[in-house]
Amino acid sequence: MGILGGLHAYIVTGGSEAAREALAFRLAREALCSAPDAPCGVCEDCRKSLSRAHPDLHEVTPDERGAIKIESARAMREAAQVKPNEAARQVFLVHGADGMNAAAQNALLATVEEPPTPCIFIFVCENSRALLGTVRSRCGLVRAEDEDEAAPAAPEGDARALARALVRGVRSKSALTEAFAPFTKLKGDGAVRKLEEARSTLANAAAASPQLASRALRGADLASRAEDMLRANVTPAQVASWLIASLI
Ligand SMILES: [Zn+2]
Repeated sequence: MGILGGLHAYIVTGGSEAAREALAFRLAREALCSAPDAPCGVCEDCRKSLSRAHPDLHEVTPDERGAIKIESARAMREAAQVKPNEAARQVFLVHGADGMNAAAQNALLATVEEPPTPCIFIFVCENSRALLGTVRSRCGLVRAEDEDEAAPAAPEGDARALARALVRGVRSKSALTEAFAPFTKLKGDGAVRKLEEARSTLANAAAASPQLASRALRGADLASRAEDMLRANVTPAQVASWLIASLI
């Protein structure tokens, strides 16, 4: 399930640098993906953000002294004037944001408070106290946890990718084939469980979004028919082919 609320800006803090970066990047991908269970990992937006080539993902890194200067803040302010290219919003992912000096933070303040176009700012900070109170008060705080203290990660690929494919969120045959590829390698019982997971994702999506409900329920219906086929000993590969043919 998504982490993002309805805010324009978030501070990601706590944990190790790796944990913060991983969480911040996940938030960025969630903000760029339009799938019901974002980040789905398979849509065009996710592919681009995963390869860090999404035109609406702007990353800012500190200079060799760890500083983010006012020029970088002004550049973000300018970019925020322009509408997103492909996603529903632009994402400004600011690494080492505790290196932003006061002038840089002040230059961004109004934009963070009320972006002129749909935008999300994600400030990755080791020490969020380095940010001005005026900035902090406009941001949601998201805490990263180190891996050994974090709960086991939710399976990001398989069940979500299936759910995404089943709501006809994947258009081309090659993308569908790719989305179902991990599924074809499962054993019968594992394949049934994976479809059940995808079906529960779809049921949640249908409950959460009236616009998506009919597509999600049709997808859930396909999943349930596919489960019956698996129980009748049709192989996962054959079931995947049937699903792909039904979805095209
Ligand atoms: Zn996606």
